[in-house]
Amino acid sequence: MEFVDLKKQYLEYKVEIDTEIKSVLDNCQFINGPAVKELETDLSAFCGAEHSIACSSGTDALTLAMMALDVKPGDEIIVPAFTFIATASMVSFLGAVPVFCDVDPVTFNIDPKLIKDKITSKTRGIIAVSLYGQTADFDIINSVAEENNLWVIEDAAQSFGAEYKGKKSCNLTKISTTSFFPAKPLGCYGDGGAVFTNDDELNERIRIVVNHGQEKRYFHKYIGVNGRMDTLQAAVVKVKLKYFSDEIKKRNSVAEKYTELLESFVKTPVVLSENKSVWAQYTIRTEKRDKIIDSLSAKGIPSAIHYPMPLPRQEAFSYLGQPVDFTVSDNLSIEVMSLPMHPFLETNDIETVCSAIKVAL
Ligand SMILES: *Cc1c(COP(=O)(O)O)cnc(C)c1O
Repeated sequence: MEFVDLKKQYLEYKVEIDTEIKSVLDNCQFINGPAVKELETDLSAFCGAEHSIACSSGTDALTLAMMALDVKPGDEIIVPAFTFIATASMVSFLGAVPVFCDVDPVTFNIDPKLIKDKITSKTRGIIAVSLYGQTADFDIINSVAEENNLWVIEDAAQSFGAEYKGKKSCNLTKISTTSFFPAKPLGCYGDGGAVFTNDDELNERIRIVVNHGQEKRYFHKYIGVNGRMDTLQAAVVKVKLKYFSDEIKKRNSVAEKYTELLESFVKTPVVLSENKSVWAQYTIRTEKRDKIIDSLSAKGIPSAIHYPMPLPRQEAFSYLGQPVDFTVSDNLSIEVMSLPMHPFLETNDIETVCSAIKVAL
């Protein structure tokens, strides 16, 4: 059994993907070929954000968003304590200071009630992650930000396609970023990502920064990066995007089946009624994690831990000083584990996973 079955997905769309890749090869426009613009148009149509800027990864998307917002050394940016490293490491990369905030014990997203206490005169913005495929509570986060004159970025690396109060992830705040890493809900065949905004000026600036800061060839308005998405990746995502709505439905059916079989044995994930998840991960909580992992691996079933250590406790961030109270994040890091999740998971596979869990318990 695969954790994410990319092979099965490829075989499903093989003819179309091969055709699109071949047309890039025939055309030889490997950078900024027509597929990139076409993908951007399709992404905007899908999520509702006016501007979509394809780029080289979800990590670079975060960097581009912060560069466009003119993040400066010493600026404080509030980030969740429980997420993938890139959310916070790119803040440090730009010389700014990640200020960690604990997460909500139900959704595992940044706890909006705790944000106010983290705000100082140096705070510039908030990066809220929509973890495991469920969006953070953007109405509250946006209003705290507005009251304090801060911007908000949605790190939607795990939530492209999700919904919050009927509105799509990547169209919930000032700037959003996503990742097309192969194992994300919508993935390419290498690294890729995108930045989204409804703000014309930010769009212009991101498009300049993503391409060496150049407005015209060899005339550079800003310090920029090489953060472009290559044409081959755009061609692949373009095909997969056509089937993505259907895949989201399938991911939800898989999650429902898991929950039905597991809810009386472990703590199953909770999706709030205002949310629709894309199930980037199906992550359970249990005090018997080691036992379950052993029982699964004995049957050749892969599992993963997202994430075994809260970010403020990582050695890379030790320069920030002694971390304080992150009770929820600390508890999650010792109890969470993710099960195989992809749209092509069969009912009997789900049953195999669940019975191995029950045996362990
Ligand atoms: C995957 C991920 C990223 C980074 O995306 P890449 O495309 O791998 O660079 C950033 N933030 C979160 C929350 C992620 O899950």
